[in-house]
Amino acid sequence: MRDWVVGMSAAHELSEQDQHFLRRCIALATEALEDGDEPFGSVLVDDQGHELFADRNRVAGGDHTRHPEFEIARWAASHLSPDQRRTATVYTSGEHCPMCAAAHAWVGLGRIVCASSSAQLAAWHQELWQRLGCTPSRSFNT
Ligand SMILES: [Zn+2]
Repeated sequence: MRDWVVGMSAAHELSEQDQHFLRRCIALATEALEDGDEPFGSVLVDDQGHELFADRNRVAGGDHTRHPEFEIARWAASHLSPDQRRTATVYTSGEHCPMCAAAHAWVGLGRIVCASSSAQLAAWHQELWQRLGCTPSRSFNT
């Protein structure tokens, strides 16, 4: 079973390293938003606490597979041994979508630490739509 931690609801479980890399994910998500993309960022960290790879969402160009978690899975498959992947941690601003969760599992990556869950994201979207007085034209799963 994978080790999942959702940062915002379990802050007491987060180490200083966890908090550091979650802040890094939020900075990457901010960078994505400022560049006209959806605000998501992720970081891959080895078992010694070293950042190996980081990316942000890049779907604005039309390729909706350009999620940072998916890029991490691809990078890990090409650059790390199975043991290195198993002991690595993926930090991410939002819980994996189904595509990224599958890629994570297929590649054999280890622990996941999320700043927010999909349920939190859905609630925030609902609140925003209510404030704006509009109805979403599509569902948002990441
Ligand atoms: Zn995804």
